[in-house]
Amino acid sequence: MNSFSTGNLELIPIEAGRFLLDGGAMFGVVPKTLWSRQIPADEKNRITMAMRCLLVKSKASGKTYLIDNGSGDKFNEKMAKIYGLDYEHSSLLNSLKKAGVKPEEITDMVFSHLHFDHCGGTTRYNENGNLEEVFPNATYHVNKRHWETANNPNAREKASFFDENINPIKESGRLNLVDDFHSFEEGFDTLPMDGHTVGQQLPVFSGNGHTIVYAADLLPTFAHVPLPWVMGYDMAPVQTLTEKEEFLKKAARENWFIFLEHDSDHEVITIKEENGKFSTGDSLKLAEIS
Ligand SMILES: [Zn+2]
Repeated sequence: MNSFSTGNLELIPIEAGRFLLDGGAMFGVVPKTLWSRQIPADEKNRITMAMRCLLVKSKASGKTYLIDNGSGDKFNEKMAKIYGLDYEHSSLLNSLKKAGVKPEEITDMVFSHLHFDHCGGTTRYNENGNLEEVFPNATYHVNKRHWETANNPNAREKASFFDENINPIKESGRLNLVDDFHSFEEGFDTLPMDGHTVGQQLPVFSGNGHTIVYAADLLPTFAHVPLPWVMGYDMAPVQTLTEKEEFLKKAARENWFIFLEHDSDHEVITIKEENGKFSTGDSLKLAEIS
């Protein structure tokens, strides 16, 4: 199986389907002539995005964590078409099944943030058309400041938070709001990042001499490594720039392995720094980390 062990923690990628987003929006001020050489666009200017979640099994605590859970499948036909949702490639429940884990065995759901493509898998519609939870035993962990934002979004960010995703988390009775730099257990911490959205948290795993960071929407794809390649979706792009620079410096110097949530071709990359410029070093699978 494609997995990596930090000693106490076993990490397994869980692909929850693919979708399409406007390439221009994904690369902000970068012209199409440049970004389309890195990631090709379709005839509607869209690029293919992965929804790569991460299963984390802990020997020490006995917990089974899932980091993010993709977009889910609650879209109506029109929305599914707009986003080009593709569950043929992979789906959340199939990928978990392949990893030998049942939804009810997930004890802890850790959200990087609550934009629809990160938390939509929390719920689905049952045959009566009612919302039901997919992971009935999971505690939902959300950064405290992000929870405030998700419940009081500005007009620009509102379209990324869906009521049918947020309300069931609120009403579950199993919501746990965590502080910045929260530590879930030894070798599993989080890093707060505010540029994309207030209170995004990046899971960081360390052990066996390695550090693996779940980059979520700080670095959605390998093409977002160069500093000015910042998403148009970011709420505070200049802050992303500052956060990215500090992050990439550490990643390059300390040989971090960066796990990419949205890159359809690259699962894990390393970072190179030359004269203050950052680029992608190696591209590998989790199991190839050594
Ligand atoms: Zn996002």
